[in-house]
Amino acid sequence: MTYDVAIIGSGPAGYTAAIYAARAGLKLILIAGPEPGGQLTKTSEVENFPGYPNGILGPEMMEDFRKQAERFGTPIIYDMVEKAELRTSPKVLWLSGGDEIHAEAVIIATGSSPKWLGLEAERRLYGAGVSACAVCDGFFYRGQPVAVVGGGDTACEEALYLSKLCSEVHMLVRRDEMRASKVMQDRVKNTPNIHIHWNTVTVDILGERFVEGVRVQNRLTGEEKVIPIKGFFVAIGHQPNTEIFRGQVDLDAQGYIITKPKSTETNLEGVFAAGDVQDPVYRQAITAAASGCMAALDAERWLTTRKHLLHTDGTSHIVPS
Ligand code: NDP
Repeated sequence: MTYDVAIIGSGPAGYTAAIYAARAGLKLILIAGPEPGGQLTKTSEVENFPGYPNGILGPEMMEDFRKQAERFGTPIIYDMVEKAELRTSPKVLWLSGGDEIHAEAVIIATGSSPKWLGLEAERRLYGAGVSACAVCDGFFYRGQPVAVVGGGDTACEEALYLSKLCSEVHMLVRRDEMRASKVMQDRVKNTPNIHIHWNTVTVDILGERFVEGVRVQNRLTGEEKVIPIKGFFVAIGHQPNTEIFRGQVDLDAQGYIITKPKSTETNLEGVFAAGDVQDPVYRQAITAAASGCMAALDAERWLTTRKHLLHTDGTSHIVPS
């Protein structure tokens, strides 16, 4: 069977695209990916998504998105795309579980993943004190000292969350200022058990089987010191999940998919991108959802125009749905 549209990803962008595509009567399939629900399943309270006046937990919000997509008949496959051929018609997606999906249009909503510092100890001690998600792992370090690397909104959010569970939170900020919004910086600075280490970089994470400390260096003085900690949380930004599309879809220098202005169209006919995978600037649940809506509308218009054109010249190779 050939679908009208295959949506890759199950964050706010993917589910919103599904809601719109399903309501438009398109024959669609959504491939949830390695982390169903996306990054919001790893966050705590979402306070800035309109429609939830009292806030909502990220995982609960994504459950609501999923239920709404399913209510209009979106079939969801809990698998991940391993390989894609997006230049042919139909386009082909190969899934890890062995399935092969054929679709006329594809909406890429694969989001982004946390970045790491690149230290050997980070990999060795991952899950043994090293984490990129305070909400997931903070509980293990209650009453203990931890460190958070980064000076953006994510790092501040992680530090504030951890400050309620842990004895001390050491924020390691590599410059003499933070990138985070003022309100988040103020909250961090006004929390007594958060200690900000300015101009500070991580040299190594210490510990054989579990994290026991972090060796840091002051970039201005060159001075090194060891801070005893049990948990090491990396919060230094994200990497778009575009590796499997490289060489086919145009990417920018950071690997984000390039879309045409005021559109979700990519350089490839019938391939659209929505959410964080094409947005290095806003990266919010609400902007991702909005671009998911745009992608479904763009895909639907593209399919309609295409079917009409192919019908009139009699050369259609679209498999009737
Ligand atoms: P950002 O890119 O905004 O910040 C990354 C931070 O990590 C910066 O302080 C950066 O330092 C630092 N950093 C990067 N690489 C390294 C490294 N190798 N070593 C040490 N430090 C490093 O990413 P975020 O994930 O914080 O935020 C992404 C987007 O999501 C932003 O637009 C943010 O506003 C938004 N967001 C909003 C939230 C909310 O509104 N509640 C919550 C979380 C995120 P430097 O500044 O020196 O480059």
